Formats: sequence, structure tokens, C-alpha cells
Amino acid sequence: MIISQQKPFEEILTILGEKKRVFLIGCSLCATLCQSGGEEQVIEMKERLIGEGKEVSGHVVIEAVCHILNSKKELAAHKAALKETDAVLVMACGAGVQTVTELKKIPVMAALDTLFLGNVKRFGQFEERCSLCGECILNKTGGICPVTTCSKGLLNGPCGGMHDGKCEIDPERDCAWVKIYDRLEELGQLETFEEIFALKDYSKGIKPKALILERGKKVL
Ligand code: SF4
Ligand code: SF4
Repeated sequence: MIISQQKPFEEILTILGEKKRVFLIGCSLCATLCQSGGEEQVIEMKERLIGEGKEVSGHVVIEAVCHILNSKKELAAHKAALKETDAVLVMACGAGVQTVTELKKIPVMAALDTLFLGNVKRFGQFEERCSLCGECILNKTGGICPVTTCSKGLLNGPCGGMHDGKCEIDPERDCAWVKIYDRLEELGQLETFEEIFALKDYSKGIKPKALILERGKKVL
């Protein structure tokens, strides 16, 4: 899921500036789980904005604001309120904000900072495990990603700074490459550890990425 957190309220007020009537959009998926843009946070934001003298012309919590067609349909039901709006404040990830930008000709503001693609460890605890590099090497690293979980993103490790299995950048954290070694040993695949990885083809990560499928098959 996409991990996000709310910008400081003072910053939100600054970006809204003189805009008086604000429409709020939250997201019922990732931003709800991150407690940054769910129903509860949208209502709280509404009250805080009203407390600062703003008018809230309406609000909606959309299921996956990043889904452009679905958001278009949901926002159509709020056409009248949106017409009376000076700015839309989106409490969803950056992809969600850009969905609304594409759909509406009024100013669209981001209320959240989008942080990373995260695993949910438990409620309210998230960890980055994948950087979406476009060329996955997990099959050779025992299912542990060095690109993301090694502080230096090293493809061959551990580096000389590893100490007692801990990372030199953050001694609280286990070295990713020690974890990879232990995992491969556990799987009886240590020979894989001897392999030297060639330079990664980072051209596969060139942005913006797109994927177009036809009947489940990639056409672009
Ligand atoms: S190698 Fe790491 S960053 Fe790349 S796709 Fe696999 S898990 Fe994600
Ligand atoms: S100690 Fe391990 S995790 Fe830390 S930077 Fe070096 S190889 Fe990466």
C-alpha cells in the first residue's frame, strides 16, 4: 500500500491562502489505513478549516482516488458543491491528487506527503520493502530486497561497514545482506550468494512508467 502522512496544518493553511471555499476528498483505502485521509481525518480537517474561517463546500471519501474512472463517477455526484468551490484539498497519495487534477479545472491541493510503498507490519506500523525498481532480483536474494532494505541499495554486499550483523548507517537495523545470507543458508542456496550481480538496468525504472494490458496481455 502507499504510505502517506498529513502535512502540518499550518502548511495546509498556507497553500490554501486566500481560497475560502474548500472541498475535501479522502481515500478509503491506503490513506485510511495510514490514518492520514480516511473519514475520521477528513471530518477533523473539515472542523479545523472551519475553525480557521474557511467554508467547506462538501467532502467525500472515495474508494481509491487513484482510480480515475471511479473517482470521476464519485465526483459527478458532487458537481454542484464543486462548482461553488475555490480549491479541492485532496487527502490521498500523490497519485490521487493527480487524478483530481486531471478531472477538475479548479485548483487542487495536496494535504498529504506521500512517503513510500509499504508493508503493514501491524496497525499503524509500515515498512518499505520494495522501491518498484522495474527489474526484480528477489529470486536471487532469498526474497529479501537489497535495493530497498540495504541503506546503500548495494547489489553486492555486505559492505565493509557491517558490524556484528548490523548496518553501519543505522546500527539499530540488521544488515540486509546478512539477512540475505542467513535466508539463503536456511534455504540451502548459498551458492547464489557467491554470484556477483552485474550493474542493474536502471533504465527499466525510467519514469513515468506505464502498463497497458489487453485481455491480460501487455501491449505497452
Ligand atoms: S528488486 Fe527490490 S525494488 Fe526491485 S522490484 Fe524487486 S523488491 Fe522491488
Ligand atoms: S551494512 Fe549492510 S545494509 Fe548497511 S549499507 Fe552496508 S551492506 Fe547495506
